[in-house]
Amino acid sequence: MTAFTPMPLADKHQLLVELCEQFEDAIFILDKNLRYLSVNATYELMLGYTEAFLLGRPLGVYAADFLSEEEQAVLKNLTNSLDSTGFYESDFSMANRYGQTLDCHITYRRIYLDDTAYYVGKIRNMSIVAKNKKKLVHLLNYDQLTGLPNRKVFLSQTSELLLDSYQEVIIVRLNIDGYRNLAILLGPDCINTLVENFVLRIKALELDDLRCFSHFGGDDFALLFECKDANMVRHQLDSLMQMCERPFFLNNNSTKGSEVYCHISVGVSYFPKNDNEFIGLLTKAEKALNYVKQHGGDDVCWYQKSINEFNAHHIQLESELRTATSEGQFIPYFQPKFALDTGEITGFEALVRWQHPTRGLLQPIDFIDAIIAHKLSLELFSQMAIQIAEQLSVWQTLGFNQHICINADAAEFSHPDFFDLVSNLLVQYKIAAHQLHIEVTESSLIKRHSNVKKQLNLLKELGICLALDDFGTGYASLSYLQEYPFDFIKIDKSFISKITGDRTQHAIVKAILQLAQALDMQVIAEGIENEQQRDLLLTMGCQYGQGYWFGKPMPAEVATDMLMQQHLSKNKDC
Ligand code: C2E
Ligand code: MG
Ligand code: MG
Repeated sequence: MTAFTPMPLADKHQLLVELCEQFEDAIFILDKNLRYLSVNATYELMLGYTEAFLLGRPLGVYAADFLSEEEQAVLKNLTNSLDSTGFYESDFSMANRYGQTLDCHITYRRIYLDDTAYYVGKIRNMSIVAKNKKKLVHLLNYDQLTGLPNRKVFLSQTSELLLDSYQEVIIVRLNIDGYRNLAILLGPDCINTLVENFVLRIKALELDDLRCFSHFGGDDFALLFECKDANMVRHQLDSLMQMCERPFFLNNNSTKGSEVYCHISVGVSYFPKNDNEFIGLLTKAEKALNYVKQHGGDDVCWYQKSINEFNAHHIQLESELRTATSEGQFIPYFQPKFALDTGEITGFEALVRWQHPTRGLLQPIDFIDAIIAHKLSLELFSQMAIQIAEQLSVWQTLGFNQHICINADAAEFSHPDFFDLVSNLLVQYKIAAHQLHIEVTESSLIKRHSNVKKQLNLLKELGICLALDDFGTGYASLSYLQEYPFDFIKIDKSFISKITGDRTQHAIVKAILQLAQALDMQVIAEGIENEQQRDLLLTMGCQYGQGYWFGKPMPAEVATDMLMQQHLSKNKDC
């Protein structure tokens, strides 16, 4: 600890004078005859009279000619009280030199120094105190960004409403999907602008029977409805969801007019059906919200009992998935892609399977949403990518140079480690970049951001082929084609399944093929299940296909056998 050295007296005096000047109350010193000796800077500012003007003048002199009767009485009372007790304290309004009325709290105290009496006065401007108090109350009860009531206010309004309401009460909990990623990608200023715009849009909906719209912080909101009919709230929540289908435009230096889609997850509970008591209702709305988030978000869920079971299952699933990622239980199955004209295998799509220790081989439908919800996508991708790189190098040594295509979610692209992971694998396993293809689904691109575009461009520059998966099932397929550097379009199997019997599906596939040709892209038809579909697609000009008719997803050894057989039969033909 450093030694403490007391201040020299002169410095101490100087310090006291300077601190007094900084004081937020007006301080003044009078002599024993109540004449001004000194005033601080706040006094000059508050009352409008300079110290030079006041020095030697008696108390109240500046206003002597204009004092109202009430003020004269206060002054008299003050001098009497100071004479007799040496102390005076009062609240009153006074006018300053600029004609402003100040609500003041004044205290005077007599102090003796070496037998000489001085009076020290202090004036506190109560309107500033009241303003500060109001500010504090605001800070404690409202979110500072959006100005909406906070969680505390929401809870008290809900419990109040439940106490004196015999009507139905509905609690809605709402989160913005992928908020953490958005916040990282957009940066603090832009994410705040997004949240402000989001709140303005909800306000503009002028929802009926809304008793409280609250911001718990970040992307966390709550709405409290008092209504006669739950269906009415249902309709209003529909408008809320529709509102999110329009992009938000952010305009600043870093985002330059970029569009951001802000999807939401919504959980709802209502009184009296779900609970009688507000904490129970709130928890149930939160459980419903959680349920939506576990299912990929962008939806509304009304609480029901089965959600409890689901949540229990999900907690278990999450812990099992974490074990699966750390113990490497994910394996790729390979589905062949082939040239429709020659029937030759051009490559394979790697599709994840989970070798579960007790439940056997699980399909993506059983766990892929949970992977995304628990932010394990990058772990899954890296586990798959390593095995795929190993497989490519095995095939390379056997003389096969077919490509392997890996599925990736847009959330994986946004990850800062994604690009390095891919490029390092290519170097480590000595794989040519064009042998690795990456497929992105349209639906994952909906939650898009400029970062995804940047990452796709980087991969493309590296020489990796990119495919747009499930084409035609999303919202804005055509704009994706223009925006992102895809080499392949994969027509979703829902269009192929009816292509031979349904004129509309046929027309859609034809249009996609023409579009791809115009844009210099290659087309792969997914889900070819029979020969007629293959033949028709071939006559329509589709180059590549994939489907059960040709081969189901299979383990690596079976895929290798298939390549061997193709090789042997080719040699035989020669
Ligand atoms: P996808 O990428 O569109 O893959 C095609 C899906 O259709 C596969 O289902 C495949 O088994 C199935 N399929 C292929 N041919 C036919 C057919 O002729 N008829 C029918 N009815 N279905 C066919 P799977 O393996 O269950 O995968 C489902 C989805 O899971 C994939 O759709 C993909 O979006 C996702 N997925 C699979 N593996 C991964 C992965 O490693 N990472 C990520 N992020 N997603 C993956
Ligand atoms: Mg795919
Ligand atoms: Mg697909």
